[in-house]
Formats: sequence, structure tokens, C-alpha cells
Amino acid sequence: MNRFVYLPDVVSLQLNDNRCTGCGMCAIVCPHGVMTLENGRALIADRDACMECGACARNCPADAIAVQAGVGCAQAVINAALGRTGKACCTIDRE
Ligand code: SF4
Ligand code: SF4
Repeated sequence: MNRFVYLPDVVSLQLNDNRCTGCGMCAIVCPHGVMTLENGRALIADRDACMECGACARNCPADAIAVQAGVGCAQAVINAALGRTGKACCTIDRE
């Protein structure tokens, strides 16, 4: 399965380790497998795969995650509004 990655090193995702209780909710709701659990704490395992949907932050009961939701989807929204098809130009395929 291809893995879609947005521009490297631009994701706004932030994890506050000190607040994390290890509930695992972020790993459950993340659609791109960005978040995982390690030693009872959340870990950002694949930062560049984050699409900044905001699901992890909205579902974290400890307010341990911050992300500028929607930023990563901007190009796709613009392309859709202009009637363009195909992937957003800000994504690249990785195996
Ligand atoms: S949802 Fe929040 S508290 Fe739960 S594992 Fe993820 S970061 Fe930690
Ligand atoms: S913002 Fe969305 S894609 Fe990024 S880590 Fe959170 S749930 Fe996953």
C-alpha cells in the first residue's frame, strides 16, 4: 500500500509527553498511523504522514496534542474547488 506524505518537516503536530496518560486514543483515531504507543506513552511514529486532520487532538482526554487542523488539506481543497482531479500537488508517493 502506498503511503502519502506531505511536504517533509512542515507538520504542525506537537505532543506534550508530560501530559500523556497513555490511553491510546490518538493511535486509534489517527487515519494515517502517525501516532503509536510505546512504553505506555504516545509516540509520533511517522510525523510526515500527518495530514493535520486534528482527530488526535480533538480526542485526547489529556490535552496532550496540538495541531493546526486543516493546514495539510489546503491544497486538496483548492484543487477540488478548481475542478482538478488526482492527488494534491503537495503530496508525494512513498512505498
Ligand atoms: S490520546 Fe492523549 S493521553 Fe491518550 S495516548 Fe494519545 S496523547 Fe496520550
Ligand atoms: S492530525 Fe490527524 S493525521 Fe495527524 S497525527 Fe493527528 S489524527 Fe493523525
